[in-house]
Amino acid sequence: MSNPYEAPRTDAQLRQDACCSYCEESYRDVGPLVEGPDLVYICEKCCDEAIATHNEMKQPGPAGQWCSFCRKEGVVTGAFFTAESGVQTCAECADLVQHILEQELNYRDARNERSRERNLQTRSSRN
Ligand SMILES: [Zn+2]
Ligand SMILES: [Zn+2]
Repeated sequence: MSNPYEAPRTDAQLRQDACCSYCEESYRDVGPLVEGPDLVYICEKCCDEAIATHNEMKQPGPAGQWCSFCRKEGVVTGAFFTAESGVQTCAECADLVQHILEQELNYRDARNERSRERNLQTRSSRN
């Protein structure tokens, strides 16, 4: 039951301190999170774990249960990687999340690279 004295939090507020739905760590600690529908999140570490788990268990997925990210039924997607919170990720979504995170991290690296170059330039121009 929700606390009647606490105003329901808006999506924006929830996003502001988004935590991975698997390890419950904040994006401040674990880096970028990929957001699914209904404020479901997964971090890079848990995505790696999901992919490793999916590679091990080549089982058919459950009927009547749906992937928290693509909303497809287990019988279509194959087995899920399930969090204690009940969030579940199919193999296809885990791959997609990994791809998105790679792009995000490459983008950040590229940005850091550029700022390093700028620092070098400012430093050398002072000489
Ligand atoms: Zn996580
Ligand atoms: Zn999925």
